[in-house]
Formats: sequence, structure tokens, C-alpha cells
Amino acid sequence: MRWSRYFMPTLKEEPAEAEVVSHKLMLRAGMIRKLTAGIYTYLPAGWRALQKISEVIRGEMNRFYAIELLMPAVQPGDLWKETGRWEAYGKELLRFRDRHDRDYCIGPTHEEVITDLIRREVSSYRQLPLNLYQIQTKFRDEIRPRFGLMRGREFIMKDAYSFDKDEAGAAQSYEWMRQAYVSIFEKLGLQFRGVEADSGAIGGSVSQEFMVLADTGEDVIATCTHCDFAANLEKAEVTCASEDCPECSLPPEKVMTPGMHTVPQVAEYLNVPERKVLKTLLYDADGMAVAALVRGDRELNEVKLGNLLGAKHLQLAGQEQVEKWTGAGMGFAGPVGLKVDKIVADLELRLETDWITGANADDAHLRHVDLRRDAQVNAYHDLRSITREDPCPRCQGGIRMTKGIEVGHIFMLGAKYSQSMNAAYLDEHGAEKPLIMGCYGIGVGRVLAACIEQNHDENGIIFTPAIAPFEVTIIALNPKDEMVRNHSESLYNELCSQNVDVLLDDRDERPGFKFKDCDLVGSPLQVIVGAKGIKNGVLEVKERHSGHRHELPLEDFGRHFQ
Ligand code: ATP
Ligand code: MG
Ligand code: MG
Ligand code: MG
Repeated sequence: MRWSRYFMPTLKEEPAEAEVVSHKLMLRAGMIRKLTAGIYTYLPAGWRALQKISEVIRGEMNRFYAIELLMPAVQPGDLWKETGRWEAYGKELLRFRDRHDRDYCIGPTHEEVITDLIRREVSSYRQLPLNLYQIQTKFRDEIRPRFGLMRGREFIMKDAYSFDKDEAGAAQSYEWMRQAYVSIFEKLGLQFRGVEADSGAIGGSVSQEFMVLADTGEDVIATCTHCDFAANLEKAEVTCASEDCPECSLPPEKVMTPGMHTVPQVAEYLNVPERKVLKTLLYDADGMAVAALVRGDRELNEVKLGNLLGAKHLQLAGQEQVEKWTGAGMGFAGPVGLKVDKIVADLELRLETDWITGANADDAHLRHVDLRRDAQVNAYHDLRSITREDPCPRCQGGIRMTKGIEVGHIFMLGAKYSQSMNAAYLDEHGAEKPLIMGCYGIGVGRVLAACIEQNHDENGIIFTPAIAPFEVTIIALNPKDEMVRNHSESLYNELCSQNVDVLLDDRDERPGFKFKDCDLVGSPLQVIVGAKGIKNGVLEVKERHSGHRHELPLEDFGRHFQ
């Protein structure tokens, strides 16, 4: 690809809309653009990276006996009514009606569709086992879409579904998928960890998640300090008592009174983006909410005092208090980081942290486990070092909390869907039996985001070779110089003919500008073609990862890439 003719709109400025580094860098490197909340266009470089990830996934899925197909994104509501999920799935399921007034949804997952296919096509044990997968666009109307591709509403998922005669067969299919996943994430160059998705199930776990370890992860993983026990706490620790809200235990009308509610509602009230709402409100002595701490910086204990001084506050606190707090608030307004406990002390505020619930059950968990103890802001900011009081369920060792990004999930389903949808086969003796199923997901876009979370520096992305949109960037230092142009072009053509994914930076820009851009977009290798080097018979090669530069002889240069 010649950069001068490519479409990779890089940004010099830090995008204000992005909170985590992967989102920022994907925007800055010209990989994605937002259409609307949680819905993105994959620009050419982003799409290349997603396809690279998909190729690695395909290779390993195929190796472990899974077969690719493609199912529709639009699904009839009737299928979901058969399994009861039309009612049970909640608001994440995007439903609509066609011109004949029939119910439809955009698939957030495909158990119903695949089970419908298989019940029509498979009737005998001779057709089993089967494992079918697709790489396809899903839609989930997430309550809090955020962090770019990490939690989108429309996103690409690899989802596989296995069908076996019995539990033993299903266990084998599951094990193959586990091995495939380990291999996929290794090949992609990610640091990851398999965890039990339900920490209550000690031993015979039927669900495992693959977590990329990163501070920005939304999941909280308990790991044992002695043995290899690791579990995602979301399901085990959080119980939701509410019928009002699928994610939290508080009724919506309680918003903005002490003991209140969800992040989106608070965001709306405060008139700030959701990502800016920290899980803390400050109350005055009378229990009035007078300020929200909004996130200024991920660093410890540094926040900005939020905008609670607008018109809406009048309704809540009354004129007198508004005047009082307007004065105080103005003093704190602006981009300066402030110590939370200092604000609290200065303003003689009571700190209330035990109220808010977001879409993420993990936040709720943390609140219950730790923040509740004494409502110390410091505890909130020190999530990573929280030590749970419980011992390890396996070895009684200590428990540590870390944060992780769920990139994959494998699940034994048993006969849950085959029974409700009547998907059966005839065994060797002619007896009818339900199919035993498993399902296996990987978030393709989330893998890309997680890769960048783990591999970047202050200059930009450092792609792992398997994911890089371009493995090599050739930087033609001064493309107006005929010698530089010719050498760059011929090297470019040579690498292309060797099937190397190569980007030629042939733009008529200053060297400094090009170096910056090339570091930002993150090819693992850069080849620098300059007049001086050519005269000395060398080209300079820079490893993006280490920053290490060395010179290689110009002659027969392409063989290094064979
Ligand atoms: P989460 O707990 O993060 O909401 P999930 O458990 O609901 O994810 P699964 O139903 O297990 O997700 O889907 C399989 C995979 O799809 C996940 O492991 C994740 O990698 C990916 N995924 C799920 N939701 C999203 C999303 N909103 N945006 C991007 N990827 C997603
Ligand atoms: Mg989810
Ligand atoms: Mg999950
Ligand atoms: Mg999951």
C-alpha cells in the first residue's frame, strides 16, 4: 500500500471523546471512526487488523475441527420465544417489527438460529459431532457502550456452536475449543489468562473466560496467590434484587436523591458524558447531593469537581444552597487535579460511595466488598491491590484482585437449547436423544482493543506481528529525491511480491512528521530509505518494539523478509 494513495487519517491531537488508550490510539492511528454511540466504521487499517485477527482465529478453529458458515444477523422473534429468551434477554436485545408486524431482533448471539438449523438437518448419530462457527456482526444494546471497540453495541464476534451425542463428546468438543483459544491468543501475541467464569463452581467448571490482563479491564478477577485458581467475580458475587433495572438493585425514580442510581442517569443529570461520572457523589450535611466527582485523570485520587452547579441543581438543593456551592464550585472548576480527601475536608462534605450502579456488575461487586467498609475514596482508587478477605476455595491461599478484559468465553450448554427447541437425534439403537451443546465466543474487535492496551508506548501503537495492519513500513525520507524514490519503490515491489504486508510512506512530508506518524500506526518494523544511507550502501531498520535501529546492506535487502 502506498500511503499517498491510502486512507488512514491520523490525528495529532488527543481525541477528547476517548478515555482508554486503545480507543485514543485507534482514533489517532486512523483505524476507526464513530458513527454513533457504540457503533463504529472500521477504516481500512482497522479493518486490516480485524481481518488478521480473524485469520488467526479461522486457522485454529479449523485445526480443531470447527467448520465455518455464516448465519443471518436478523433473527425471527419466534425462535427466541421458543427458548424463552425473547422475554428473558432484556434491553440488550434490539427488537423491531417488519411490515407484516412480525417480531424480529438483531442477533446478539446465535444459539437459537444454529439450533433451528441443526434440528432440521441432523437426525442421526452418524452426523455427529459437529462444530460450526461464524465471524459475524452482532448487536447488543449495551447500557453503557464505551471504550471504543472494547464495548460496542455493534461488534464483530466469532461464535461457535458444538453438537454432540452425549456429555463425554461435548467435553471433548469443549476441550478442543479451550486448546484452540489458548493457541489463538498465543499466536496473536497477547498476555492472557483463562479464568473460571463462575467462581462458585469449584472443580467441574462449565464455563471459562479468556482474560487479557489490563488495568482498563471492566472485569475483576480474583486470583489465588498460591495456586492457579482464577475466577471472574461478576457472576458469583453480585446479586441483583431489582425488577426495575436489569443491572442494579435500585429503582430508577430514586435518581439524584441520596442513595441513588445508574451512571447514565447521573450523566444525564450532570450533563456530562457517561464516562466522566465517577462512582462517587458528595453530599452536604443535610444529605443534599452537592457535587459529583468526575474523572479528570485515571491517576490515583486526582479528580475534577464536576458540574453540579447548573440549572438542574436548583431543583435539588434550593436557591440558598446553590449560591453557597456555586462559590465553592467555581473555586474548584478548571482542569487542575484535586485531591479528593482535600475537597471533602475543605467543604466539610460527607462522602457517599455506596449508591451508584452502572451496567457493570463488577463495579457493584467492588463496592460491596470494599467501598462499603468505610466509604473511603482511597479504597475506590486502589482497586488493583484489594485483597479479599475470603481464602482461595481450592487451597485456602490468599486472594488478589486484578482487572481483565474478557476477550473470549467458552461454555458447556448441555441440553438447554436442544430441549426447549426440540433438537434431537436417533442414537445407535434408534432411541431419540437431545443434542448436547457447547458455545464459544471471541470478540474480534475487543481483541484488537486489548492488544493495543497491552502494546503501546507514548508514541503510539506497537502492534504484535500477527495483528499489525502492515508488518513493515518503508519510510522514503525524501521522495522527491529520485534515488530515494527508486530504491523505496523497488524495495516496496520486492516485499509485495514476497507477500509481506508492507506500507510505503511515500508522502511528501518532513522526516520528523513521517517518523511520528509511523510510530503512531505501529508497524513492528520500519525501513528507512534515505539518500545518505543509499550512498553508503545501507538501509536503516528500526524495530518499533525496542526502538532499536541497525543498518543492513542495501544489496539483496529483500531476502531478510523471505
Ligand atoms: P461482557 O461481560 O464484557 O459484557 P459477555 O460475557 O456479555 O461480555 P459473551 O456473551 O460471552 O460476552 O460474548 C462472547 C465475547 O464477545 C466476549 O467474550 C467478548 O469478547 C465479546 N463481546 C461481548 N460483548 C461485547 C461488546 N459489547 N463489544 C465488543 N465485544 C463484546
Ligand atoms: Mg455482556
Ligand atoms: Mg462477561
Ligand atoms: Mg461472556
